[in-house]
Formats: sequence, C-alpha cells, structure tokens
Amino acid sequence: MARQFRNDITSLVSTEQGTVVKEWGGKLPIVLAYANNYAVGMSSLAVHSLYRWFNEFPDVVCERAFAWLGRQQLQGQPLLTLETQRPVRDAEVLAVSLSFEMDYLNLLAMLRHAGIPLRADEREEEIPLVLLGGPAVSANPEPLAAVADAVVIGEIEPVLPILVETLKRSLFDGRLAALHALTELPGLYVPSLNQGQPVTRQVQPELDAYLVASALQCPRAQFGDMHLVEISRGCEHACRFCLAGCWYLPQRERSLTQVMQQVELGTRRGQSVGLVAAAVSDYTQLDELLDRSEALNARLSVSSLRVNKLSSRLLRVLAASGDRTLTLAPEAGSERLRQLTHKGVTEDDILSAASLASGFSFEALKLYFMIGLPTETETDIADIVTLSARVQSLFGKTVLVNVTPYVPKAHTTWQRQPMAPENELEEKLKQLKAALSARRIGLRAESVRGSVAQSLLARGDRALGERLLGLTQYSSAELLKAFRPSERAMMPALQGFDAKQQLPWHFIKRAQHDAG
Ligand code: SF4
Repeated sequence: MARQFRNDITSLVSTEQGTVVKEWGGKLPIVLAYANNYAVGMSSLAVHSLYRWFNEFPDVVCERAFAWLGRQQLQGQPLLTLETQRPVRDAEVLAVSLSFEMDYLNLLAMLRHAGIPLRADEREEEIPLVLLGGPAVSANPEPLAAVADAVVIGEIEPVLPILVETLKRSLFDGRLAALHALTELPGLYVPSLNQGQPVTRQVQPELDAYLVASALQCPRAQFGDMHLVEISRGCEHACRFCLAGCWYLPQRERSLTQVMQQVELGTRRGQSVGLVAAAVSDYTQLDELLDRSEALNARLSVSSLRVNKLSSRLLRVLAASGDRTLTLAPEAGSERLRQLTHKGVTEDDILSAASLASGFSFEALKLYFMIGLPTETETDIADIVTLSARVQSLFGKTVLVNVTPYVPKAHTTWQRQPMAPENELEEKLKQLKAALSARRIGLRAESVRGSVAQSLLARGDRALGERLLGLTQYSSAELLKAFRPSERAMMPALQGFDAKQQLPWHFIKRAQHDAG
C-alpha cells in the first residue's frame, strides 16, 4: 500500500514540468498543502503562486501535499510531499490554502492523515506550525481558531518577506516564541494569543509586484492544458452577496505588459490561456489584450462573463479559441431580485447576450442562478424558468441551468441574512427541475445539505469549531448531524444575526486604503 502510494506520487510528478526539488539542509522547510485532491489543488492559482514565491527564497524549501491524490482518500499511511516524498510532519511549517469552507472538513482529515494533532494547543515542538490562509478562512477564521496556529488575514503578498523572515528567525526559539513573533506582524492572527483583538486585512496595492500565474505545467490537474494568469482582483460592482465585490477591494489590475508575457508563454507551450478575474470583461485594456492575443494566435478562455459587458469581439476570440460553452451569471430570475442584489443586469442584457452568442460556434450556454436569496418568492423561482426558456429560444442550442443555494458570507452586505431552510430549498429545487425539464432544459444543482453546512462554516464561531473537532468523519452530512434540529433553529450562522448581535468576525478590519 505504502509502496503503491509512493508509485502514484512518482508517476504524477513525472507528468509535471516546473517541479522544484531543493535540498532541505539549512533551509526553512514549508509544506504547501491544499485540502482537496491534486487535480483541484493544481487548478488553484494560490497554490501555483505560493509555490513559486516560497521557492524563490534561497533559504526556503517548499514542497506540496494534497488531502488525496486521485479520487480515493488515502488511509493508513503518512501523508507525503510530492517532491521528495517526505512525511508532511517533517516540515517546520504547514501552509494550507483554503479557498472554500467545505475544505475545512478535508483539512481535518488531512491533518489526521499527516499525524498532526487537530488542536493547535496539543502540538509538540517537533510538529509543524499550521499556517492557514485563503478567502474563506480570512473572512471568518473562528471555526478553525482551535486548529490554526496562525492565519494570514487577506492577501499574503504585503507580508510575505517579513513572514518568511520571522518564521526563519523565531522557530529556532520554539513554537511559542514563533507565535508571539507572528502576532507582531500586520494581518497575522494567532487565535491562541490575540482573540478578539483587531486584525487588519492585508491588501496588495501593486499586482505586478507578485506574479500570479501557473508556476507548473500539470496535465493531470483540472484545466491541465491551460496556462492560468490573474488579470485583476476584486470587483467594483459590489453585489450584495459577493465577497469579491464587497471585500476584495479596491479593484486592482495587472499591467497588460505582464499579462501579455504570460499569454505569450502559454501560447509558446501550446497551451490555451485562462484569464482569471472576478469580472474579466471589466479589464480596462481588454480590447488591446484581445488584439495582441489574436496576433499571437493565442487561445483564450474565461470562467464566466458579466452579461452586460459582452462584446462580439470577445465572443469571437473565445469561440475561435475552441471554447464550447459560454457561461453567464444572471444570479436571479426576476428583474426585481436582480436589482435587489445590485447585480445591475437587466433582462434585455441577458436576452441580447443570448442572441449575440447564438451567432458563434458555442454549443451550449450555461446560466448560473442562486435560490434562497433574501425576499425570494415563488414568482422569482418561476422567473428563472421563464428567463431560461427565452434564452433557449434566442440561443437556439443547448441551455444548461446551474443552481446554487445562496449562502450568506461574512463581510458581504448580506452577512446578517438568514440561510433559507433546507426543506424550502429542496422544494424549490424540485419545482425548478420539473419546470425546466418540461422545457427540455438541463439542470445542475449544488447540494442543499452541502450549502447549509457551508453556511455553518462560513459564519460559525469558536463554539462551532469545537463541534467540528468532535466529528469522527468529515462530511457535510456528519457536520449537520452533530446539531439537533432544535439547536439549528437557534444558530445565527443559519438563522441570521440581528443588527445588535456581535458577528464572530467583528475583529477583522478593512485596511485604510481598502475602498468601500
Ligand atoms: S459582478 Fe460578479 S464579481 Fe462583481 S460583485 Fe457582482 S457577483 Fe461579484
């Protein structure tokens, strides 16, 4: 079994290009872990970037580890790094990037697997210091307060050099000395030492100073044939449900020069180039980016587009690049609810986008909607069906509807709103499924259970974290089972917070220059 695991690692790494292997002697060993599988982890720009940045320090060695490599969770053997197959426990720092709340459950399974005590206060000197970061945990670290030795709140770039320097220096004097030293750094939250004290979210002013682009070629990752590059960060539209619009501010752009260097690099390697941003079509130099990419015969791809900024120019480039599916996110079916979300997209915008897209070679149009938004009525649900049917008749090809239960998030305008009850969401999904299938429109829906669990993790407090630590199996069903229905009916993380209630994440502050 153990040999099989090592063979799996060797065969996986042999497919990669750009893997960094360094001697450990005299260096600070950091294991960069992702609490999900390899394919998902290596599609994360955070993993690529941290791997690049950590390894750029001559006196740091950074190797990767994943909660599991393929589909199967690994049992009964130590968690190993990919580069040199060392036990993760041998590192001095375990840095974990957490993009999604559901990965908190994987994190606990991964720590067990690595032989690292789940509780920070039970870790002995030889156990790595567990440093967490990423959008989910930095918005509300409290559910993982007992697990994290430290959390980077916000973007790591502004503190990266001083963080590495502090770790190198202070870890010589032991774990407690290192934790005290970390409390002195901006944006570093040490839950055991500074509970409730204000921590300022870090914001990188100049994106160009730190390259955020694929650092390795990983054919076995999701988007494995793609070179990813971040073109901007944050979004100025401030939709009331959206973390990118309410919290990742101000909106900042990477220079066209740096973006084009990456487009050229990916194209030279025969890859398509994935442009990553909260709102790609808002990039101010998009036209020039498209011109220059066309001149290079580059193939471009994007995740989803703002409906009211679609240009035939952009669609032509995407279609010519071989994209088969175009994704648009109206978010709500009715004009009323879209206005309320501040999405700023009208029905006319959506229908015009569908007609425009019909003239290109896209085979399918994917529409993203949420259900369970504040004030939602049955009419709003019926409007999802009506709108999708209109889009289908204008597009003339396959339309796929993707529905996600709305999960209120910390730091958004709607952070105090209740999560819609599970039975209500299931009923709405059932109605939608029947009505859409009668019109031959496909529906893909996120799990309602998973979304309710996500709401608990997104807005939970330290008490919820204790319950998390009491689980013996890590799944959303197990998490929900830990709370009786009468208990769930009292929990603000599900029922919402009234205006006077203190939020678990109240101590996380915006930076001064963080607009909005
Ligand atoms: S436009 Fe998209 S990314 Fe921007 S705030 Fe709205 S939902 Fe978020």
